[in-house]
Amino acid sequence: MILEGKMKRKVLFFTALSVLAFGQSEKSYIGKGNGYGGELKVNVKTKGEEIVDLELISHKETSPVVKRAFPVIKERIIEAQSPIVDNVSGATYTSFGVKRAVAQALKAQGKDYGKITVKTGGPKEEIAYLEPVNTDIVIVGGGPAGLAAAISAKEAGAKNIILIEKLDILSGNGKFDMNFFDLINSEAQKKNGTFDTVEAFVKDKANKMDTIERTQAQAEGAFKLDAWLRGMGIELNHNYGLRNHMAEKDAYAGEEIQDGLEKKVKELGIDVRTGTKGLDLIVKDGEVTGVKVQNKNKFYDINAKAVILATGGFSHNKELLAKYAPGSETLATSNQMSATGDFIPVFEKNNLKMDNLDVLSIFSFILVPSRDLTGGGDGYILVNQEGKTFLKDKPTSMERAKSIEAQTGSYAYYIYDQDLYDSFYRLQKHNNLGLHTKAETIEELAKKLNIPVEELKNSTKTLRKEGPYYGAKVQSAIHMTKGGVVADEKTQVVNTKGEKVKGLYAAGEVTSTSAAYSAAVVFGRIAGEEAANSIK
Ligand SMILES: Cc1cc2nc3c(=O)[nH]c(=O)nc-3n(C[C@H](O)[C@H](O)[C@H](O)COP(=O)(O)OP(=O)(O)OC[C@H]3O[C@@H](n4cnc5c(N)ncnc54)[C@H](O)[C@@H]3O)c2cc1C
Repeated sequence: MILEGKMKRKVLFFTALSVLAFGQSEKSYIGKGNGYGGELKVNVKTKGEEIVDLELISHKETSPVVKRAFPVIKERIIEAQSPIVDNVSGATYTSFGVKRAVAQALKAQGKDYGKITVKTGGPKEEIAYLEPVNTDIVIVGGGPAGLAAAISAKEAGAKNIILIEKLDILSGNGKFDMNFFDLINSEAQKKNGTFDTVEAFVKDKANKMDTIERTQAQAEGAFKLDAWLRGMGIELNHNYGLRNHMAEKDAYAGEEIQDGLEKKVKELGIDVRTGTKGLDLIVKDGEVTGVKVQNKNKFYDINAKAVILATGGFSHNKELLAKYAPGSETLATSNQMSATGDFIPVFEKNNLKMDNLDVLSIFSFILVPSRDLTGGGDGYILVNQEGKTFLKDKPTSMERAKSIEAQTGSYAYYIYDQDLYDSFYRLQKHNNLGLHTKAETIEELAKKLNIPVEELKNSTKTLRKEGPYYGAKVQSAIHMTKGGVVADEKTQVVNTKGEKVKGLYAAGEVTSTSAAYSAAVVFGRIAGEEAANSIK
């Protein structure tokens, strides 16, 4: 094997280190850093001068993020033999905390890496334009829709599939605390004695923002979904309400589904390229023939017989929010940083039809500052820092969001009693994680939250007479963008003349109205199958 340039230097470097390390005993150094959720500790194992392993001993990071990001940052640090490496995108603060912890630990070995800030990264690569890559299907976006599309395309017989994801970790917004709505004919429903049908689903879900054909396709997809997921070992065993599902009574659906989809994609040997951003469509004579992509400073084309877009929404793009839903751009969002609607300008440029871009879903309460979705149920009281209630009766979600934004500090306190605590899993979870404040009396709660006691007592008269009481600092947040590119019931994208665009499919939140978890998986699955069938 002939090794070139950088690779050869790397092998020589590691060989030299290994020779030096030979016969040396392993040593452990523990360092601390601050991540997204607070302090984390890393055990750095060395042999002589060589960093041989990293172990995350403790942390308060978001579990589905740290689980995906730590192996990546660990690999980077071991490969570079230094904490001066690029952050894992999608986990910037976790990466920063780990890098700091490693640098601190290695001080005991006499190493000084200087001041590591959030912006500290590895050496920049030269800009390079690479040869094009050819494949059968390219999928842009590695969230629920993209992963489902990759699996179903493979199952439908497509041989060569490339999935690109602009972050360094997969699963998009789907990996967070997610309830899976709109699932029918599930094992869990049957166990509950719930009889549900495609017809009933269509009747309940038909709405003027979407075509009846798409609602029918979603219903049929939802009917087959539980069996498909279970075939991959993904079990949604808890059904509540009519069609809502969680993995278990005390476990959300997001991690269960996303871990399972990622595992399956790996098993199927799909070429997954993380850290790779889709920039533009390659269009020839009205037909889409590939995607232009960027990986760090490397640019190349992926030519494909079919392209599936699964890039999610634009809740994190203030410019697009200001353009399409003016006034919403000042609100917080629950979404991860990559929900930036990168392809909206591409749709405009190529005269692809878009719809419902002004329609947003607002989540009532996210925690300040951690942004976890919180709250729920009835019987809570919302007060401002002065302890006063301020909401008008029955506000719309946007009115609530704007009222909270207008309060001191642009936040409010979500105050509740033991009855609400007992009825809501999310509140129990957040208390267990120490994210809410608990007190035996209203006086104590007021003190802990720095709210005037008399005002809080006055505002909370409708709560239970005896404690404990709870409180959390909250805002409302943009949760999903409902609009996007228009696709038909087979997920084929449509242009402004109403014609189907050859070679282009779209699924999930990037499309008009498919903005919800189950719809993303259902239409992702359809897109994979349709794209695979189109190239046979
Ligand atoms: C905190 C939170 C909780 C939620 N809870 C629920 C819930 O309980 N129930 C529910 O139904 N829905 C919920 N949602 C909404 C749900 O997560 C989304 O509807 C769903 O994730 C959409 O899937 P998607 O694959 O279309 O998009 P995403 O999950 O956004 O995935 C898109 C992926 O594409 C990548 N990408 C973007 N641009 C590019 C590019 N240019 N090149 C390459 N890759 C790109 C992104 O990085 C991302 O990984 C929640 C959302 C959030 C943020």
